[in-house]
Amino acid sequence: MHEFSIASGLVEKLLDFAEKNPDKKIVEIRVAIGEFTQIEEEQLSFCYESIITEMPIAGSRLTIEPILGQVACPHCSYSGLPKYWEGALSGPPVATLECPACGKAAGIIAGEDCSIKSIRYVQRENASVDR
Ligand SMILES: [Zn+2]
Repeated sequence: MHEFSIASGLVEKLLDFAEKNPDKKIVEIRVAIGEFTQIEEEQLSFCYESIITEMPIAGSRLTIEPILGQVACPHCSYSGLPKYWEGALSGPPVATLECPACGKAAGIIAGEDCSIKSIRYVQRENASVDR
């Protein structure tokens, strides 16, 4: 359960934020997810929602912003978008570490992590006005 541990990590950070800002109600969290993380967006949203139901941040929405992967090749000095493997019967093409220019092994330079981009909140006093 890769997604579950990622979601737990995000929730932990949000709870920390909520604790330090008791006057703010979190309504949305925006997360950037790199292509190479292999995180499934639907799975992550599902895990997130099931974790927060009993928490002070319940009702907040998780928005996922996919980040394209990029690779750099030490053999031919290519750098840019990775080569995609489209042999899978279902699902989107999978980014590979094969250099699109020379076919040797390239290294990841972008798209291998997952980070919180922003947290959107409302002041608690105004929470009812927003409805
Ligand atoms: Zn190359």
